[in-house]
Amino acid sequence: MYNNIVIDKIQKRGTKVIYDFMEVTPKLNRKKVIIAIIIASVIVMAIGGAIFYWRLSKQPNHAVEENDNIALEQNNTENKKQKHVASVNFSPVFSEQAKARLANIYHSEEKTVYLTFDDGPSKTVTPLILDLLKRENIKASFFVLGSRVELNPNIVKREYEEGHFIANHGYSHIYSNIYSNVEAVLGEYNKTQQAIQNALGIEYNGHLFRFPGGSTGGKYHNTKNEAKGVLQANQIGYIDWNALSSDAAGAKTKEALLENVKETVGQKKTVVILMHDAGDKILTYEVLPEVIAYLREQGYVFKNFYDIMD
Ligand SMILES: [Zn+2]
Repeated sequence: MYNNIVIDKIQKRGTKVIYDFMEVTPKLNRKKVIIAIIIASVIVMAIGGAIFYWRLSKQPNHAVEENDNIALEQNNTENKKQKHVASVNFSPVFSEQAKARLANIYHSEEKTVYLTFDDGPSKTVTPLILDLLKRENIKASFFVLGSRVELNPNIVKREYEEGHFIANHGYSHIYSNIYSNVEAVLGEYNKTQQAIQNALGIEYNGHLFRFPGGSTGGKYHNTKNEAKGVLQANQIGYIDWNALSSDAAGAKTKEALLENVKETVGQKKTVVILMHDAGDKILTYEVLPEVIAYLREQGYVFKNFYDIMD
């Protein structure tokens, strides 16, 4: 388009010059003038055409370059993702060393804290917690419920992709179901395991279970005890907690939650904090910045269960 306009302009100007010339020298041979016009036009068109084809020939190369850049960018993203995944272990392995580390979790050398969130994922609270953890650059562990994973698979995927550990909290969270017999515990683990894999689209097994209501005591104490052996035989470890905000047990204000954390953390070297990211646990999210600040102040290093598993 640009070239056509230029050619047009040149032609018009050239013609005007020639007519001016004819005005000044009316006696000049018109034949010669016409030939001159034709020659000038041919030259102008040839130059214009050359420019046009030169630009045209440049264009495909340019497009290829752009495509290459896009491909390069995609590769970089893939590489970063691979590195990220590699750094957090793609699918955890419950090796003998990992078993030993889990058994000795409360005997660490340095002050260590594991933030753990149960009963999610929820649409309302989990994404807020994930945003906050990202800002704080902390990797946590989510003990998800299979029934909730099926409702919010993308949130579980996000948890995983952002380097958090996905662990298993059973499927129903209904004690009379999951603890009806030992097989039901393993059944709920497997059902949740399948839901996690479906959500992530990869072979993933965290090899880590948290008993709803804790691994000991209560009405189902015996079933829980028996289930531990079954889990172990299936390469599944379990973990309770040694600190909590009581966000699921009646604490109604941020102040109360923070106070419970401070009290239960006490002077412990290793802390596994129980919190919840179910849909009604907005207070857990709201107090989390203060909980994190307190733990940092106390000199704790944040870890998740990728630091235990291989
Ligand atoms: Zn729970």
